[in-house]
Amino acid sequence: MINFQYSRADNIADAVRQIAADPAAKFIAGGTNLIDLMKEEVERPSRLIDISRLPLNTVAETAGGGLRIGALVPNSDLAYHPLIAQRYPLLGSAILAGASAQLRNMASTGGNLLQRTRCYYFYDTATPCNKREPSSGCSARNGLNRMHAILGASESCIATHPSDMCVALAALDAKVHVAGPAGERTIAFSEFHRLPGKTPERDTNLRPDELITAVELPARGFAANYTYLKIRDRLSYAFALVSIAAALELDSDTIKEARLALGGVAHKPWRDPEAEAALRGRPANPAAFALAADLLLRDAKGYAHNAFKIDLARRGIIRALTQAANATPQSQSSKKIR
Ligand SMILES: Cc1cc2nc3c(=O)[nH]c(=O)nc-3n(C[C@H](O)[C@H](O)[C@H](O)COP(=O)(O)OP(=O)(O)OC[C@H]3O[C@@H](n4cnc5c(N)ncnc54)[C@H](O)[C@@H]3O)c2cc1C
Ligand code: SF4
Repeated sequence: MINFQYSRADNIADAVRQIAADPAAKFIAGGTNLIDLMKEEVERPSRLIDISRLPLNTVAETAGGGLRIGALVPNSDLAYHPLIAQRYPLLGSAILAGASAQLRNMASTGGNLLQRTRCYYFYDTATPCNKREPSSGCSARNGLNRMHAILGASESCIATHPSDMCVALAALDAKVHVAGPAGERTIAFSEFHRLPGKTPERDTNLRPDELITAVELPARGFAANYTYLKIRDRLSYAFALVSIAAALELDSDTIKEARLALGGVAHKPWRDPEAEAALRGRPANPAAFALAADLLLRDAKGYAHNAFKIDLARRGIIRALTQAANATPQSQSSKKIR
């Protein structure tokens, strides 16, 4: 384990002041990702600034009919919160599909957004990795790449973002509230995570001296017709090969509004406005769902070990939309819509 200093932040302004004063410092919330990365010497912060006692652990209703979720609300509290269960069950399902009960008790809302990729080479300091060490190369492109991206990858990096919660937040059009030395700002969820391009070392558009204070959900929760479908190697404690957050608003059998976000396929939760637009105004049936899947996956590209994900994603999208349309979020098969 590397040597580092430890301090506790007294309030939000103090947290921002401390991080701005030391570019090599890191915030620590639940520690479930950061401590692992420090043990592997992938992260080597000079100082840990403990934010776990900041008053950012409440879920409150907003004037616009949505919810403001404090950055320190534990993943398990959020998943079981009555307002999430009633109004945003897609988010609750996605959180409960991730990690284990013990980890979800420790993991925070802000930390979940900033968890780092699970690319094996990123954790293995004996191998080149552009994300860990810029310009060193990407071991995954010609190495083991079963878990890797099929959309939005670059020459520099083909890693995926591992979060389940973020896939639902993307589908729900959440916003991220942050505080920094220049004051507060809000980042649309679609702009929060980045594609790798030539700078895969940057996962997000959060600045190094900014603190996530909250995540805001808009009023629309898609509580009637939704599904979070996670396909993985074993039923618990495994990251998604492909996951799908599907949400529909129906007028009888016609789709009024559709949301589709994929996890496990790209460097960020993947949404495609064309695929969602193609669903609006159509009957909720397999032909419409297949069209949306084909549109969303039109630029998908597999590598040596992950080409199977393209067909897996296509089938997953159709199944998730079918379950959402049938209002059977956890069912394995379709009864009503054929
Ligand atoms: C074995 C295992 C299995 C897992 N399986 C899954 C899974 O299936 N699905 C899934 O989605 N996740 C999974 N996880 C990941 C888990 O959800 C994350 O580790 C967790 O959400 C991170 O939250 P944390 O509070 O512990 O973050 P920390 O480890 O404390 O911090 C993570 C990063 O976020 C930064 N940070 C934290 N809070 C803030 C803030 N408010 N503002 C600015 N920066 C901040 C830290 O500086 C650090 O860089 C798994 C983890 C483990 C260890
Ligand atoms: S895919 Fe990205 S994280 Fe994995 S080895 Fe390549 S550069 Fe590193």
